[in-house]
Amino acid sequence: MSAANTGVSEELFARACGVIPGGVNSPVRAFASVGLTPRFITRGEGCLVWDEDGNEYIDYVCSWGPLILGHRHSGVEGALREALLKGTTFGASTRGEVEMAEKIAAALPSVEMVRLVNSGTEATMSALRLARAFTERNKIIKFAGCYHGHHDSLLIKAGSGALTFGVPSSPGVPEDLAKNTLTAVYNDLAGLEALMAQEGPGVGFEAGFETGLETGSEAGSGAGGPVGSQVAAVIVEPVAGNMGLVLPEPGFLEGVRRLCDDYGALLIFDEVISGFRLGYGGAQSAYGVMPDLTCLGKIIGGGLPVGAYGGKREIMEMISPQGPVYQAGTLSGNPLAVAAGLAMLEALRAEGFYEALAEKTAVLADGWRQGAQAAGVPVCINQIGSLMTCFFLPADAAINEGGRVRDFLTASSADTERYARFFRRMLDQGVYLPPSQFEALFVSAAHDEAALQRTVDAAYEAFRGL
Ligand SMILES: *Cc1c(COP(=O)(O)O)cnc(C)c1O
Repeated sequence: MSAANTGVSEELFARACGVIPGGVNSPVRAFASVGLTPRFITRGEGCLVWDEDGNEYIDYVCSWGPLILGHRHSGVEGALREALLKGTTFGASTRGEVEMAEKIAAALPSVEMVRLVNSGTEATMSALRLARAFTERNKIIKFAGCYHGHHDSLLIKAGSGALTFGVPSSPGVPEDLAKNTLTAVYNDLAGLEALMAQEGPGVGFEAGFETGLETGSEAGSGAGGPVGSQVAAVIVEPVAGNMGLVLPEPGFLEGVRRLCDDYGALLIFDEVISGFRLGYGGAQSAYGVMPDLTCLGKIIGGGLPVGAYGGKREIMEMISPQGPVYQAGTLSGNPLAVAAGLAMLEALRAEGFYEALAEKTAVLADGWRQGAQAAGVPVCINQIGSLMTCFFLPADAAINEGGRVRDFLTASSADTERYARFFRRMLDQGVYLPPSQFEALFVSAAHDEAALQRTVDAAYEAFRGL
């Protein structure tokens, strides 16, 4: 069955490697962790993609999230064609940007004002700058295994041993900067509280203490000040999708919210994946926990490059040109991207859209669980809405808390060799999964029953004899 032609893809990859570092423009595309060279995709339609060698695949990457309607959705494509005929970019304001901002603010209960940018990375980078300016503090806390884009402040991992501050997870990130990023453990509130406490006392500690929260730009509580926490913000994926799918346990997000309030830090939800995917109101609506700032990307661009960050009016008003916090973009609010995004959001409002999508994905998850069980392969399948990850548990599943994957440590104990073999067997059967154990797979509205059944059948085959 592994007789798939790959000659053209291999030739293109060889050429790519001569002129593009690693042959790819984003590392996860490289297929390195599954021991293959990447397929070069030439075309998509619905839930299918075709590569340069003419192989057809059911696509569960869906561009890593944006394509919740599948490839070439007629509404999105129509809006794009229409916008294209009017010009691609003006560097001036357009109606679509206003409509997009209104739509986002109407959809997300915590968002009153929005700024459009060009990527999720830009959104989190800008949100952090804003949070630091608003609180007049420098430190931020992120969670191990959460990904928020590739800018310096967030390419940080936990320091080892006695280090309480973060260390760069990439060369080129200054250690001085890394010291301002602290790393907590996902789903571990006690650990987060300890980290917060280490950075100074909470809001109630001293009468008259200014958190910056009520006072905006008033001076007095800046980092290094005599009293108070130094933590400007806690940034979290409310549903973690970048260490494989890891769900927040009951009370976790509520607890993070409470600790942020206690210490006068802003809570930033990175909803670049979960926004408009877990439901029209994102994870914040699904879990009923309101952040101060929200970062968006992926779906809101309808398949074109977009990001956004938004939140409370009193915070967002600090952004230039209304306020002093600088942030800009030549192509921000690009007419094509906004047109595609608006058409996509419109389609997502259809009655029962998210329920149907979640149901499909649950069917897939159940099918895989049964397949794994029948084959005697220990797995932990995390699923919510249209997101899913099948973690291949190590033989010594005891270190995995009885097979639960709930944080970075339990996720990273997964058997990546086994995932790679599973991936290759699925690819051979025409199913294109994320080429990494530590990514979620994405189901779209275009995945029909036949495609899902084919996928479950393929998984039975792939699990067998792993
Ligand atoms: C993809 C992603 C980002 C980065 O978005 P880009 O558009 O790739 O810069 C940020 N946060 C999360 C949660 C993401 O999944």
